[in-house]
Amino acid sequence: MAIEKCTSCNAPLAESGATKFSCPACGAEIKRCVQCREQSNVYICGKCGFQGP
Ligand SMILES: [Zn+2]
Ligand SMILES: [Zn+2]
Repeated sequence: MAIEKCTSCNAPLAESGATKFSCPACGAEIKRCVQCREQSNVYICGKCGFQGP
Protein backbone atom coordinates (compact mmCIF):
# COMPACT_ATOMS: atom_id res chain seq x y z
CA MET A 1 0.00 0.00 0.00
CA ALA A 2 1.27 3.44 -0.89
CA ILE A 3 1.39 6.09 1.77
CA GLU A 4 -1.21 8.68 0.95
CA LYS A 5 -0.19 12.27 1.15
CA CYS A 6 -2.12 15.48 1.38
CA THR A 7 -2.39 17.11 -2.02
CA SER A 8 -2.12 20.57 -0.48
CA CYS A 9 0.71 20.29 2.04
CA ASN A 10 2.18 16.86 1.22
CA ALA A 11 1.85 15.68 4.79
CA PRO A 12 1.24 11.97 5.25
CA LEU A 13 -2.43 11.39 5.86
CA ALA A 14 -3.71 9.94 9.07
CA GLU A 15 -6.45 7.38 8.84
CA SER A 16 -9.19 9.57 10.19
CA GLY A 17 -10.33 13.03 9.25
CA ALA A 18 -8.69 13.24 5.86
CA THR A 19 -10.93 13.71 2.90
CA LYS A 20 -10.73 12.51 -0.67
CA PHE A 21 -12.52 13.76 -3.70
CA SER A 22 -12.13 13.86 -7.43
CA CYS A 23 -10.53 16.75 -9.26
CA PRO A 24 -13.36 18.71 -10.88
CA ALA A 25 -11.27 19.18 -13.99
CA CYS A 26 -9.76 15.76 -14.67
CA GLY A 27 -11.22 13.41 -12.07
CA ALA A 28 -7.91 12.52 -10.46
CA GLU A 29 -8.02 11.80 -6.77
CA ILE A 30 -7.36 14.77 -4.52
CA LYS A 31 -6.54 14.15 -0.87
CA ARG A 32 -6.51 16.64 1.92
CA CYS A 33 -5.51 16.33 5.55
CA VAL A 34 -7.70 17.57 8.34
CA GLN A 35 -5.68 20.70 8.80
CA CYS A 36 -5.92 21.74 5.17
CA ARG A 37 -9.60 20.95 5.09
CA GLU A 38 -10.32 23.08 8.13
CA GLN A 39 -8.22 25.93 6.82
CA SER A 40 -9.64 25.56 3.32
CA ASN A 41 -6.15 25.56 1.88
CA VAL A 42 -5.82 25.66 -1.85
CA TYR A 43 -5.07 22.34 -3.51
CA ILE A 44 -3.36 21.82 -6.81
CA CYS A 45 -4.19 18.73 -8.81
CA GLY A 46 -0.99 16.78 -9.44
CA LYS A 47 -2.30 15.62 -12.76
CA CYS A 48 -3.75 18.66 -14.47
CA GLY A 49 -2.65 21.54 -12.24
CA PHE A 50 -6.17 22.62 -11.38
CA GLN A 51 -6.30 24.83 -8.29
CA GLY A 52 -9.29 24.94 -6.03
CA PRO A 53 -10.32 25.80 -2.50
ZN1 LIG B 1 -2.57 19.10 4.22
ZN1 LIG C 1 -6.97 17.44 -12.19
